[in-house]
Amino acid sequence: MDPSCSKAPAPVVKLPAYKLTSRLTHPQNSVISLGSCSIGGPEFIVMAGPCSVEADPQMLGTAWDVKVAGAHILRGGAFKPRSSPYSFQGLAEEGLKKLAQARELTGLAIVTEVMDSTDVDLVASYADVLQVGARNAQNFSLLKRLGQLNKPILLKRGLMNTVEEFLCSAEYILAGGNSQVVLCERGIRTFETSTRNTLDLSSILTIKEKSHLPVIVDPSHASGKAHYVAPLSKAALAVGADGLMIEVHCDPAKALCDGEESLNPEEFKELMLSLRDLAPHFGRRISTIEPAAPMLAENQ
Ligand code: PEP
Ligand code: MN
Repeated sequence: MDPSCSKAPAPVVKLPAYKLTSRLTHPQNSVISLGSCSIGGPEFIVMAGPCSVEADPQMLGTAWDVKVAGAHILRGGAFKPRSSPYSFQGLAEEGLKKLAQARELTGLAIVTEVMDSTDVDLVASYADVLQVGARNAQNFSLLKRLGQLNKPILLKRGLMNTVEEFLCSAEYILAGGNSQVVLCERGIRTFETSTRNTLDLSSILTIKEKSHLPVIVDPSHASGKAHYVAPLSKAALAVGADGLMIEVHCDPAKALCDGEESLNPEEFKELMLSLRDLAPHFGRRISTIEPAAPMLAENQ
């Protein structure tokens, strides 16, 4: 008798609701390439910049500061999801133009939020990475639309989403054909009010266990306090995150949005120096990038 006939059938592995996002269907870590940097590889990636793009010279000044300190990607919101309709809503396309100008000056790729499906083409025509904010993490029509793009998407965890729901949101983008998704843990709503949100560092471990997608941490929105940003950033590196998103403003006291959680350029530079020293202890690195055009510093 053929011995293979007597073998028990292989057990059927039940896939989770987030099939393509699951490590079961894709055991290796996904690495998202973006120009000269890769998210999810050995380099610990830092995205930094102001909460909102403001009038000149804020954007170019801050862009240059984060570039010199060693950030890999420049952030800045042109479409802002504000709790109050009377708060600053962002500069819209004018803000996108300023971001594109900052990219030209610094060479940094730009990440910016898209809030509405009707703005996807406009935002995609400027941005290198499109961000989905926490409040839109379960806007399924927006996620489906982003699934049709061939551009990286930074998907933030919803304020009240479990890790499973978060991974299902990513699945909407992957299911549409776009596998370039980077996840972002930015704190969740809990009964605790001493910080703006509660940073769920354990979620990094769960996400790494369950998914192959890269995941970064946003300690600025998680804590709401500038002086908590450095310790939480180091904790994110230690726990195995692939990078950070940090709010930096050239003059936080004058920021139109989230100044209280924004680092000033000096604080950011100091944080980058200590992260660069710490990274090798956790199997990562932060390369030193020489600013390409020193004379641009005079443009601030
Ligand atoms: C942001 O990054 O600008 C932002 C609004 O963050 P979140 O969606 O996490 O609140
Ligand atoms: Mn903000």
